[in-house]
Amino acid sequence: MFKPIVIIQAVLVLAFTGACSGDYYSESDFQKVKKIDTHMHLHAESTILSELAKENNFKLLDVMVDVPSYPPIEEQEKHALHQTQAFPEQVNYLTAFTLNNWDSAGWADRTIAKLKTSFDHGALGIKLWKNIGMVYKDSADKFIMVDDPRLDPVIQYIIDQNKTVMGHLGEPKNCWLPIDKMTVNGDKSYFKNNPQYHMFLHPEYPSYEDQINARDRFIARHPDMRFVGAHLGSLEYDVDSLAKRLDKFPNMAVDMAARISHLQYQSKTNKEKVRNFIIKYHDRLIYATDSGISSTSVPEESKNELHSRWLSDWKYFVTDQSMTVAEVDGEFSGLKLPKNVIDDIYHNNAVRWLLIKN
Ligand SMILES: [Zn+2]
Repeated sequence: MFKPIVIIQAVLVLAFTGACSGDYYSESDFQKVKKIDTHMHLHAESTILSELAKENNFKLLDVMVDVPSYPPIEEQEKHALHQTQAFPEQVNYLTAFTLNNWDSAGWADRTIAKLKTSFDHGALGIKLWKNIGMVYKDSADKFIMVDDPRLDPVIQYIIDQNKTVMGHLGEPKNCWLPIDKMTVNGDKSYFKNNPQYHMFLHPEYPSYEDQINARDRFIARHPDMRFVGAHLGSLEYDVDSLAKRLDKFPNMAVDMAARISHLQYQSKTNKEKVRNFIIKYHDRLIYATDSGISSTSVPEESKNELHSRWLSDWKYFVTDQSMTVAEVDGEFSGLKLPKNVIDDIYHNNAVRWLLIKN
């Protein structure tokens, strides 16, 4: 009578804790698991990162962006096509467009014609950047926000072509704080080096809330749009705030590019909360690094940087070891997420949301 009850209890404990070691990956599984990094910038002839991806069972999404410090859009697309043709199994890309001459007649038609060419070349969608909301102004000298109805025909075209919109809109909340009040070291150094985007210095610009609200209205007015919010949707500072948006907008997922340090920062004080958030929203979170290579990079350095970034992130997500990273002061411990969650965030969600081929 006694023994079966013990066995049943043991089975129940296993079922509820998922304690079986077969339910988790280990650090040494890194190479063998299929993975996708959905936020890369490959602005170079060198294919060293695409090669590294192949060696490590990664696919890459090369993201073109309308950034002044990057090569012009046309040149970025040449590089994107070079990378996708050299590594068709490994590399896909997103295209981009500018708002130059936004007020002139025919802007939307010209933009749609360019997008059609990119889509014919295989682009899986488009990237919108924070210059919408922070840089571009209309002829009345007002900032163009992303929910401006003038964007509608272009967005509708993208939806009709079954392509994805990736949006880096707004910035981390740190951007509106003085440097010494920022939470993670990556933001401190970025805004120190890019004061033009450090909104604490520009109180006359739209506020953090203005940016997030415009982005939210944009998602709401296009319920059929597949939207991936880059950089944890600029809600990196608090998993509860991000959860609220994901609950509100079923057509929204987010990538983790360059914001994993914010999850690690929150893990320092409340690891279980971060872990439970990722498990609950396992089908809406997409692994990405925001790494890349430019024509002035030293290829070996870019390769080593990316490889160590991938290994460090893997350790954080699959183990419960105590660890440190340069972006976060102090120690935190890994999340040891279940296998099915790792497979979703590292692979399946990129297939679902960005239509990267399996
Ligand atoms: Zn990026």
